[in-house]
Amino acid sequence: MDIHLNSITTLKIDNFITMTDSINTKGTILLIDDLPENLHLLNNLLIQLGYTVRSATSGKMALKMLSVKLPDVILLDIKMPDMDGFQVCTVIKADERLRDIPIIFISALNNAADKVKAFTCGGGDYITKPFQIEEIVVRIENQLLIQRQKIALQQEVKKRQETEEVLYQSRALLSNVLNSTLDGIAALQSVRASQTGEIEDFRCLVVNPAIAQAFNRSREELIGKLMLKRFLKRINPSLFERVVAVVETGEPLAEDIYYPLGESSWYHFAAVKLGDGVALAVRDVTSRKNMELELQIANRELRLLAHLDGLTKIANRRCFDDFLQHQWRRLSRSQQQLSLLMLDVDFFKPYNDLYGHQRGDDCLIDIARTIQKIISRPTDLVARYGGEEFAIVLPETRQDGAIVIAQIIIKAIQNLKIPHQASAITDCVTVSIGIASMIPVLDFSTDFLIDQADQALYCAKQQGRNSYYVKSDIT
Ligand code: GH3
Ligand code: MG
Ligand code: MG
Repeated sequence: MDIHLNSITTLKIDNFITMTDSINTKGTILLIDDLPENLHLLNNLLIQLGYTVRSATSGKMALKMLSVKLPDVILLDIKMPDMDGFQVCTVIKADERLRDIPIIFISALNNAADKVKAFTCGGGDYITKPFQIEEIVVRIENQLLIQRQKIALQQEVKKRQETEEVLYQSRALLSNVLNSTLDGIAALQSVRASQTGEIEDFRCLVVNPAIAQAFNRSREELIGKLMLKRFLKRINPSLFERVVAVVETGEPLAEDIYYPLGESSWYHFAAVKLGDGVALAVRDVTSRKNMELELQIANRELRLLAHLDGLTKIANRRCFDDFLQHQWRRLSRSQQQLSLLMLDVDFFKPYNDLYGHQRGDDCLIDIARTIQKIISRPTDLVARYGGEEFAIVLPETRQDGAIVIAQIIIKAIQNLKIPHQASAITDCVTVSIGIASMIPVLDFSTDFLIDQADQALYCAKQQGRNSYYVKSDIT
């Protein structure tokens, strides 16, 4: 029997209740003592102080109780029959489920060897009898506090491990992305002048294999290097300043840049602020850019083709209509003369019949080329009006100027000396030209001028062909 009952007769229970209430701690305590009277007394005192208390009169009984429910603290007597306190403690500490429950030995044995044994077999504290209940409570509270802190620490460690795991996973993901992407990715830190604080260059912090490959260097060779300024200046003199502006303003930069390197020449370059530096992403867009360029060229050709006559490669009828409309409005505003020449190949049907359609086509091509050469002012237009008819628009040109042009054309076609054995007038291809000149009037349509030129052409045919005729009765 360890306990000295009289040791607690001096207890000021009321005071102590107030004290424990003020620190407001409660927990479940398992008392293990072979003497029921010891148990009873301690049990009552601790219950009064607000603890939940369970009692066992032997080690075996205690272990059975522990298999059902876990207390927060165990108060353990040493001297007991069958299993003594040390043995009970050893069993508890060997059990993974129980080992975290703090054990306070409570014994009359007061020599150092017993105390050392108590601590080495896993005890958390040691109280010698006779004891004061205040001491027991303080030591219980100590153990509870340590226990709470231990649990909090374990939770904290668990949380950290989880966070570390997430961090590890996201790092692994990031490095996977960086390593496998075909885009060049780099993170760079600003290097500032010590005097002015201005950014002088950038230092490589992170580069992925795609960038290293583009530079034909290893990543290790690039990391830590100041190289961006020299490189960017080589690509485009203003690019470095614009990357600096990304850091200073936080405004991202994204644009396609041209830089021939091996088989690639176009890159999409994006820079975003990252701390006091930038993250760069560079994507080879050469094939996309080439496709765009090809598309642009194809579109331009298509636009041109839409305005060109397929056979003679001069302006087509649609282009003529647009151009004449435009000039009609423009010259009506500026009150200037507009001349129109309608040209028709003489006896072309017999030509086709005699020489064949292919030769007819060649003849039309020759005539178109010849007229185009004569009409060299960029403001003039030669168009195939249809069949073997051509129209020549001469803005800001009066009738006399148009007549000169008509004479030159007729002469030039004669000079081509394209044989025409089926012509009723000569043995070469000739043309007839109708001329109409006027200051355009917005109330009239262009049809008026075309009609006049057509009538003049008819007259030229009537008067024997290979000549021009001027419609002179218009304003
Ligand atoms: P005129 O002297 O009165 O103008 O007589 P013409 O035979 O030239 O006139 P007509 O209108 O009777 O015949 C025009 C011919 O032009 C008929 C057509 O076969 C030919 N023609 C029209 N467009 C083309 C073409 O693109 N290629 C060829 N080879 N011939 C064409
Ligand atoms: Mg005709
Ligand atoms: Mg004809």
